[in-house]
Amino acid sequence: MAKVVVAGAGINGVSSAIWLQRAGHEVILIDREGPASGTSYGNAGVLAAGSIIPITTPGLLAKIPKMILAPNAPLFVRWKYLPKVFPFLIKYLSHANSNHVKLYAKAMSKLLYDTVEQHRALADGTGAEKYITNDDYYFGYETKAAFDADAFAWDVRKKNGISFKVLNKDEFEKLDNIYKNKFEVVVANKNHGKISDPGAYIKKLAQHFEKNGGTFIKSSVTGLIENGRSLIGVKTDGEDILADHIIFTLGPWSGDIAKQLGLSVPFESERGYHIELVNPSIMPKAPIMVASGKFVVTPMDGRIRLAGVVEFGGLNAVASKAPVELLKSNAAKLFPEIRYDRLDEWLGHRPTTANSLPIIGRVNKYDNVLTGFGHQHVGLTGGAKTGRILADLIDQKKPNIDLSEFNPNRYM
Ligand SMILES: Cc1cc2nc3c(=O)[nH]c(=O)nc-3n(C[C@H](O)[C@H](O)[C@H](O)COP(=O)(O)OP(=O)(O)OC[C@H]3O[C@@H](n4cnc5c(N)ncnc54)[C@H](O)[C@@H]3O)c2cc1C
Repeated sequence: MAKVVVAGAGINGVSSAIWLQRAGHEVILIDREGPASGTSYGNAGVLAAGSIIPITTPGLLAKIPKMILAPNAPLFVRWKYLPKVFPFLIKYLSHANSNHVKLYAKAMSKLLYDTVEQHRALADGTGAEKYITNDDYYFGYETKAAFDADAFAWDVRKKNGISFKVLNKDEFEKLDNIYKNKFEVVVANKNHGKISDPGAYIKKLAQHFEKNGGTFIKSSVTGLIENGRSLIGVKTDGEDILADHIIFTLGPWSGDIAKQLGLSVPFESERGYHIELVNPSIMPKAPIMVASGKFVVTPMDGRIRLAGVVEFGGLNAVASKAPVELLKSNAAKLFPEIRYDRLDEWLGHRPTTANSLPIIGRVNKYDNVLTGFGHQHVGLTGGAKTGRILADLIDQKKPNIDLSEFNPNRYM
């Protein structure tokens, strides 16, 4: 049995902690605010096995100027932040080509394809099972032309084993009649699912971890305690915490620690937003990606969550008004007659590497350190399996997945 510190209690950290605990280790989970206080709280909740197409697709470059200037496009830049983010954006956009999309899809499909089973295995016996549902995940296109324009993405999904069915307007409206005359074509992705309250789900998992003898410490990790080729612990704003192994799952806040671990990862926050319509008069049946606005509508416990937008503006700036207004106007267009008790707003940060691939595995600089961050738009989907992989790696077990595209040391 080893003593393992897991720094960061989003889905990646909490899953790591639970799988390590099940393997018999003494685990200390650290988070500066509490479980699910970062990005894992406010995402769209979709277990999106088929989300294997990155944002950086062929043709993106040409569309960007129009997208940035159009008020109803889901891409925003905080102008003051542009000089800082510019070098990252150059690297990020260099991946907007078909070869990279194919490489990304192949690597990510291995991490994501069995997401519902992975979450069920993670939650088994924890009380968090009740938040997992099996659903189709819909992609709604306003026009047939818009669907046809996405043919490359659907072809890549098909080649990577994603099962889906293309529905016409009437077929879809029979399945969910709250969307009258909204979409000409809807694609139903099979074998998908959702978490009906991501924050509550992860908190429940963390409670189970503590109930079973795991230690949670609410502190900020501020530095590393090194001894030759080992890290013997982390410094925090409270006590130093010593360990035999350390896993860093700090989500979008991983940049500084990555540097200290010898990794020069081009890394940014892709800011995203949600609004929630609390206690709504109507409820969709399953999550849907509205393709024209690139936002997701998810039925959640007691509310509808609309989540989306990509904004480059860094980790520290306050929420911008325009993305929230855009989500509100999208909600009004989609559900013109809806009534609800309250509208809540949230800003979050997707942890994003320049090639959109996460960083999962052992770090060369130290013998006993692993990372699991950078899951961008699909961290909830891939988080259950990522934690399991990291726990296996600590036990020197070979995970049943090719991790080469996620290898942290490609950034050394
Ligand atoms: C609008 C939006 C919609 C999304 N929708 C989906 C979706 O439908 N499906 C999907 O799969 N993914 C979705 N995502 C992406 C997903 O939410 C993230 O990829 C995922 O939550 C990342 O999890 P994480 O554990 O890596 O990071 P986080 O959840 O951010 O956890 C990191 C933790 O580290 C802690 N921390 C940071 N710094 C320190 C420090 N120095 N010391 C101690 N603790 C620290 C933070 O408090 C935080 O709790 C969405 C994201 C956004 C923004």
